[in-house]
Amino acid sequence: MQSISILGATGSIGVSTLDVVARHPDRYRVFALSAHSRVAELAEQCQRFRPQVAVVGSAEAAAQLQTLLRAAGLSTEVAYGPQALCDIASADGCDMVMAAIVGAAGLASTLAAARAGKKILLANKEALVISGQLLMDAVQAHGASLLPIDSEHNAIFQCLPAGYTRSMTAHGVEKILLTASGGPFLHRDVNTLDQVTVEEAVAHPKWVMGRKISVDSATMMNKGLEVIEAHWLFGAPADKIEVVIHPQSVIHSMVSYADGSVLAQLGNPDMRTPIANALAYPERIASGVAALDLAQIAQLSFLPPDYQRFPCLKLAYDALRAGGTLAAILNAANEVAVQAFLDGRIGFGKIAPLIQEVMSAIPNRQADDITALLEQDRQARDHAEALISR
Ligand code: NDP
Ligand code: MG
Repeated sequence: MQSISILGATGSIGVSTLDVVARHPDRYRVFALSAHSRVAELAEQCQRFRPQVAVVGSAEAAAQLQTLLRAAGLSTEVAYGPQALCDIASADGCDMVMAAIVGAAGLASTLAAARAGKKILLANKEALVISGQLLMDAVQAHGASLLPIDSEHNAIFQCLPAGYTRSMTAHGVEKILLTASGGPFLHRDVNTLDQVTVEEAVAHPKWVMGRKISVDSATMMNKGLEVIEAHWLFGAPADKIEVVIHPQSVIHSMVSYADGSVLAQLGNPDMRTPIANALAYPERIASGVAALDLAQIAQLSFLPPDYQRFPCLKLAYDALRAGGTLAAILNAANEVAVQAFLDGRIGFGKIAPLIQEVMSAIPNRQADDITALLEQDRQARDHAEALISR
């Protein structure tokens, strides 16, 4: 029996994780759950999964949760705030941590899980984008393990040999082929991109996800963040990571080997597959996802990405190649820009130029501790906000 803390339990990944966990009551027990403000949803999850601890974002949310839980006769301990997230990520009572908070808000707790030597199921790609070196070093130093949940990275993980040491050359790996659906605007007239509505941007053709990552998929910044994520997870330099547009989202990514073999992982686009894979690794368990019907899919197609249409993808490659804290700056500017778009403060077409402007305005530095990285993150956010207000 293994116990799990699910950070971001009320989100899209959190809910899918609980769905898989519920299918295996003999294997998994929930130690802790967290949400930010969706208290009623968290209370329902607590009634169903009976965690020892539940964490929310504020004192008010904690008081509300406490009332709901007591009314339901539960004695779940309630806590709130960033330190409480770190506590449930590093507690002795949990073996595994699902890191599924969205954005930089997930960084500290993911790092805490690494420092406590936990098995980390990593959905929060932003943590690796901001502080890849720091996180990978912490994982190594404290004997933690990092299993990718992002479908592409989980696919790559499945296509790499067991015991892969983050050295492509040592394992005869030539290239990582990251597939991308192309999102909702793959074929839309580029001159009309500034008029897209929030509803159009979050309506992903293949995946049902949270709002932030859905907008990231529409700009393809999501793929850019994933290029950086792949760099840290698999020790791959930028020029060995190739993005391939594959609109059907059946192949979740591929690994190309020196002997000419290309290995791929296929499946229906449902995050419960990578979640079940990481939860049970190296075993295989049921996830609730139906088997692929290839005859029904009939056709798989591929095309190269168009940087004119998707400038965010190029910005992410630039940040990775530049090194230093540029990826943290890119991520912070993107988080602010996406939120501003979702709030109706900027048009969709302004997201990429805004990020680019922030990247050129904030001096790129070397930073090897969390304080320095968060300072870069703060400066980038402030600058992005100032540009938006203007
Ligand atoms: P959602 O927006 O659906 O969920 C986010 C979760 O984080 C919610 O539980 C939310 O709480 C919580 N949260 C939000 N802000 C904060 C904060 N400031 N502090 C603490 N908790 C917070 O996101 P997704 O599930 O879509 O994505 C989660 C992560 O997984 C992201 O990093 C994303 O890139 C990654 N990912 C997601 C995929 C998907 O299919 N959805 C695929 C691959 C990666 P509340 O509900 O109370 O707001
Ligand atoms: Mg992905």
